[in-house]
Amino acid sequence: MNLTELVGVCPECQGDWLDPLYDCSSIKKTFCHDLKGRPQNIWRYWELLPLLHRENIVSMGEGGTPLLPLANLGLMLGHPNIYMKDERQTPTGSFKDRQASLAVSVLKEANIKEVVVASTGNVAISYSAYCARAGIKLWTFLSSTVPAEKMREVALYGTEVIKVSSHYDKTKEIAAQFAKQKDFFYDKGVRNIASRESMKTLAFEMAEQLGDINGGGFQAPDWYIQAVSGGLGPVGVWKGFEELMAVGLIEKMPKLALIQAEGCAPMVNSFKAGLAEAEIITDPQTLVATLATGCPGAVYPYLRNILLEHGGAMETVSDQDAFRAMHVMAQMDGLSMEPAAAIACAGLFKLVSQQVIKPDETVVVNISGHTFPVDKLILDDRRVRNCQPVEEGSAQRRPERPQPPGR
Ligand SMILES: *Cc1c(COP(=O)(O)O)cnc(C)c1O
Repeated sequence: MNLTELVGVCPECQGDWLDPLYDCSSIKKTFCHDLKGRPQNIWRYWELLPLLHRENIVSMGEGGTPLLPLANLGLMLGHPNIYMKDERQTPTGSFKDRQASLAVSVLKEANIKEVVVASTGNVAISYSAYCARAGIKLWTFLSSTVPAEKMREVALYGTEVIKVSSHYDKTKEIAAQFAKQKDFFYDKGVRNIASRESMKTLAFEMAEQLGDINGGGFQAPDWYIQAVSGGLGPVGVWKGFEELMAVGLIEKMPKLALIQAEGCAPMVNSFKAGLAEAEIITDPQTLVATLATGCPGAVYPYLRNILLEHGGAMETVSDQDAFRAMHVMAQMDGLSMEPAAAIACAGLFKLVSQQVIKPDETVVVNISGHTFPVDKLILDDRRVRNCQPVEEGSAQRRPERPQPPGR
């Protein structure tokens, strides 16, 4: 059956959280023997992804990112088994490329031509790139807190950019309304099957890479740490580990450590207060726009149940902590990341200092996005830039180009 026929609601219960089922009978054999020769990207795990025909794959080499030991800081902390899943090394610089590749491939397979997404920045950038390749017209709705540099990046791909002067949850509402009016496909984020399924590849890669480090096979870490906004990442990663467990490739599940920015931490606050449903944050107060989801919806009870059953942690860190972690990670271990990813690192430091994470435990932190260099001058108002050659001996420089500091 075509996947997009399924992305609506269940005909029986009207639920819209649908999971595909796979024929898992030969997965163990395939994963043990056939993976080695395959390309290092998400399509390596083809058998557990919900696309029917390979010719619909829209790929730019997403996934297959390195698992880097936290060399210097790990030594300093006395934790030798901390690894960074370096999701900066993807086509558009964030782990959303996994999602975009699979989701856009599925759209292509369904012959969908116009798509609407709401985003806190990175989904818009990533979907823009993949939709451009697939010849799909994309409409992005971005909350006004998204940095202008990211909006320009989105526009560069020819995507329609609609800036909504409100927070992200309102932005989602408006995007959904627009899609409905125009009869365009609306990508429902965590409720999109392809989006959730794509994030399983993170689990598959981590387990395969940790297995390689430790002498073969597959191995789950003790901890998976991620900065959380809507929670798509941990939901998909968890499902990936569940499938590895189900087919007998790993022996234990990891614990999830979910880190949110103090000024927008509906999941963490509600978890600590023992609430079964999340208390919504209507006015996010964080500089980390990427993580400003105030209303986690059904994702919260889902993740809460996992933590109650399997252990794990939810923790907040301040923006200040994140920016400090950003500098520490760059200066100590050469990893320059966007503030959202630094939230996860600040969370790691906090959980280590609280001794929630033990020195001998194997930890994987998702370095979810890059501080990719964004040229403020990529696009001017008319989207075209005239570059005048600078005449010899002339003191005149190109207008608007900022002067390098200190020269
Ligand atoms: C989307 C995003 C997150 C949050 O991911 P979710 O799993 O959707 O909560 C964290 N970091 C970066 C860089 C992101 O783009």
